[in-house]
Amino acid sequence: MRILLIGAGRIGSALAPLLAASVHTITIIDPDKIELSNCDSQGYAREDIGKPKAQILATQYGMTAIIARCQDGLPDADMIIDATDNFTARVFLNDLALERTIPLVHTAISDAAGVVFTVTRDGPCLRCVYPENPAGLACTQVNPDILRFVAARALSMVLTPEPVMIRVTEKDVRRISVPMMCKHRKQQELKEKQARIDATPTKNQPPFELIPCKTGLWRAKLQGKARLNTLKTTFPVVLDTPILVVINHPIAGEIVVHETELAFKYCKDQQIADQAAKDICACVFGNNR
Ligand SMILES: [Zn+2]
Repeated sequence: MRILLIGAGRIGSALAPLLAASVHTITIIDPDKIELSNCDSQGYAREDIGKPKAQILATQYGMTAIIARCQDGLPDADMIIDATDNFTARVFLNDLALERTIPLVHTAISDAAGVVFTVTRDGPCLRCVYPENPAGLACTQVNPDILRFVAARALSMVLTPEPVMIRVTEKDVRRISVPMMCKHRKQQELKEKQARIDATPTKNQPPFELIPCKTGLWRAKLQGKARLNTLKTTFPVVLDTPILVVINHPIAGEIVVHETELAFKYCKDQQIADQAAKDICACVFGNNR
């Protein structure tokens, strides 16, 4: 499984060694460089100050690093782990996971609590759970037990994603019930449906091929100008202009009748095309001519 670990901060650096033991292919994404303050809290070495966090973790645990913000573009993956520290990135990842229909493991930690929540195919999304930017996600002093719990719980969600929210405090661990319906996923589906409609060919790109009639019957029967009046009363007329008539033949479908040729809009079957050409000639020129 290809997993994107977004964020090489407190949770990301705690989660990386756990993920390294798994068989998954991990790409770690973070734009930040190591600062002195990260050394104690996130386990980075002092001699690595100034180097990209993602690069250091990736080298240490056999992963791939992308030194950029997640909003700058993410490779294809089967799962996203949100170990970021800002709500904008979290919502971005949520929407991307919905769009790609892959699970998202959301993790967050504050001074007093940790949260792990998984967005799966069937459950609610992050926007359902946090309609607004939740306050108190910033942390200064994190209880190491809470951090360990969040990282371990995130790993178990990676192994078996389920649509639940687990909240841990110094007092207890709670499974929080979440609304089961997600209206955002519906919006995403509608957006995709509209995109598919928009992508279908329009007037500029005809949705059909025009196949000229191979029988030569029409050409052979032509005497000067075709008299199309009988044709128009015999077959349903789709289009009638001074230079062409499009009729709907019961078997061959739409046929473009021009003064000098017949062309089939959809029919590629030669036998059906031949029969339709005979029908039209019989109608316009009569059976005996
Ligand atoms: Zn939702």
